[in-house]
Amino acid sequence: MKAPLRLVLLGHPVAHSLSPRMQSAALAAASIPLAYSALDVLPAQLPAAIDGLRAAGAAGNVTIPHKETVFAMCGRVTDIACVARAVNTFWFEDGVLVGANTDVGGFDHAVRELMTLHHRPLPERAAIIGAGGSARAVAAAVSLWDGARATIWSRKPERARELAQQFDCARAEPDLASAVKGANLVVNATPVGLHDDLFPVSLDLLAPNSSVVDLVYRPGATPWVRAARARGIIAVDGLPMLVEQGALAFECWFGVEPDRRAMWEAVTG
Ligand code: NAP
Repeated sequence: MKAPLRLVLLGHPVAHSLSPRMQSAALAAASIPLAYSALDVLPAQLPAAIDGLRAAGAAGNVTIPHKETVFAMCGRVTDIACVARAVNTFWFEDGVLVGANTDVGGFDHAVRELMTLHHRPLPERAAIIGAGGSARAVAAAVSLWDGARATIWSRKPERARELAQQFDCARAEPDLASAVKGANLVVNATPVGLHDDLFPVSLDLLAPNSSVVDLVYRPGATPWVRAARARGIIAVDGLPMLVEQGALAFECWFGVEPDRRAMWEAVTG
């Protein structure tokens, strides 16, 4: 693949994203003279935007609400994007739109790092709270862990059912307490805790040997992660996943590993 001439983030909304800051740091550390910019694109504008980016020799990331639409538009996708049926990273090869899903690897990395740090094996039972784009990546990651199972709870039960149907390892639970019961990993894949101090799941429902991954990130960790840690529950917020998915995307575009430390400092500094 030819190195991209332009890097963009396609989404709506995109103004809040840390990806431009993080990828700009990776580009600067690698002395690649490119800018990474966020493009606010409405769903109806997406096909024209993709055509324009193809002509410009661009590559980039995709965020809410376009991940599943871009998956459907791709001429080729990676195996992992195929499992997730969603794309968060794209580039063009001979004019063909190619898609990857690095959220899956980013989440997988965050869980493995947390478990390694606390000398625990990979979880066998995950409870996924939420049924949107990031829940899809989480379910895909769990489906690749040997023998692991997942429960999915969503405030709209039909969305949890639809998502669970796509993964043999997953089942939907209409009741939050039942979804979490027996889980040794509980994942927040909703925006709860982003702009408020609410918890996606009461910590009283979690087993003491459980673990928590919050996909949401905030300076100083989310309220849920801080409260879990105070109870002795091992927990991490969304920053390790954010940095790893960005690093894996960089590798897709340039074929080399980025400076992860520079990326981490860009989003935490
Ligand atoms: P999404 O596709 O919009 O899905 C959000 C899910 O959360 C839906 O199931 C939605 O339910 C549910 N939800 C929204 N508000 C809720 C509430 N107040 N109470 C209960 N459920 C609620 O969004 P997404 O892309 O999955 O992202 C979810 C969160 O993960 C965001 O905060 C995002 O920033 C974060 N994220 C982090 C990373 C990372 O790298 N760390 C990557 C991706 C996403 P309805 O269908 O009923 O609305």
